[in-house]
Amino acid sequence: MNLLHLSMNPRAEAAGWNFPLGIAGFRFADLNRVRRIAELDSVFRQELKAANPDLSTVYEEYRLAEGKGYDSLAASELLIRVAPHLGRFVARIFHIEAEHHALQQRVVGDGRIFEWKKKYLDKQVLKQGPPADMERWDLSDLEFNYRALVDRRLAQAPFAEDPERELAEAGLAILEALETAKTQDSPEQLTNAQADLATIHKWSSALAFHSSLRERSAPLSLFKVPENLDYQNLVHIERFDPQLPERFRGPRETRRFRDGFKLTDERMTQRETLQEVYYCIYCHERDKDSCSKGYRKQGQIQKNPLDIVLDGCPLDQKISEAHVLRRQGDVIGALAMIMIDNPLCAGTGHRICNDCMKSCIFQKQTPVNIPQIETGILTDVLNLPYGFEIYSLLTRWNPLNASRPFDHSQVVGSPVVPLLFARTFCSAVVV
Ligand code: SF4
Repeated sequence: MNLLHLSMNPRAEAAGWNFPLGIAGFRFADLNRVRRIAELDSVFRQELKAANPDLSTVYEEYRLAEGKGYDSLAASELLIRVAPHLGRFVARIFHIEAEHHALQQRVVGDGRIFEWKKKYLDKQVLKQGPPADMERWDLSDLEFNYRALVDRRLAQAPFAEDPERELAEAGLAILEALETAKTQDSPEQLTNAQADLATIHKWSSALAFHSSLRERSAPLSLFKVPENLDYQNLVHIERFDPQLPERFRGPRETRRFRDGFKLTDERMTQRETLQEVYYCIYCHERDKDSCSKGYRKQGQIQKNPLDIVLDGCPLDQKISEAHVLRRQGDVIGALAMIMIDNPLCAGTGHRICNDCMKSCIFQKQTPVNIPQIETGILTDVLNLPYGFEIYSLLTRWNPLNASRPFDHSQVVGSPVVPLLFARTFCSAVVV
């Protein structure tokens, strides 16, 4: 009989699996024990107190009140401040501080792209439309000038592998040089910076609008602009048979071809989801986060022109708050924020619903693609070492959830059933 699948040394194997965590006195198996989770929660709170006593005092009051009776903005601000502490603590649990920090740095670095977009590109280039004489521009000459400018401005930090980041960094460097020249009252520096700004402006216009450069700029998130919404034509179609105008089809570039039963949707890249995060205007700060609370006028929930009731996320997920954390690169904190109201977010995301997106404050133009952001946040965490274990832990312990930070009942003796559910959903997300 072949018994090779049985371990020859189960005791040693179990010890390897039950490794010591990055929090002294805890091992992996403790994460599935209710009492040990309560102790872990207590260590987190002690560390928060040591790191930031003022924040800890406010947080402890919030925990004591189970989050009840709090003004929504005060609660959101408190959770946004606590979430980065939680992210770092969870990273330490699994000894992945370096990977967590690297991910954060990558997100913050990519944020420079959207800083340039917001500060200059959107208003000064994209909103202006194509310049009248653009088709007569000498593109080779223009690119040569742009490359010379990049060499001058980014000599210390080349981004040759990443043209999008390179453009943004060069643009921001010029804006900073303009500011410096003005404060130092230096006419020569000012003239140079103005000349460089004119060059980068022209090159950006060419990338945005010139037909010969469309293929180069199409994949770049920098040049994405919202479209006006036409509710009677939300899905673009072509009527290709004049004899039979009822026949229609989708434009070729947006068609998705099915291969067996594989999913056909293209998920957004990390940078594309970040572009959506920067497009968001974080409405919780004004209590206007209609994506979560519903789109209201004079207190009344509204309908859109298709008669769809705009009541926002059915779970009241803290969307705007999660976007703030994702923008800061606090990805574990952002996931914990989502999981306060939606612990099974691995089963929702961009493939399931878009009630939030329909209720976004942008009713006349492309809304923020919240479901793709949610999927992106979860995928970022799942792609970390121990990503699944982090997600699984947050379903059992989430100190941002003041009313139920962990399961107080003793009923959850076995984590097997929740783990099976979570693993099924997560495998659907990572494919
Ligand atoms: S997703 Fe839309 S409604 Fe929600 S916070 Fe962002 S901009 Fe506002």
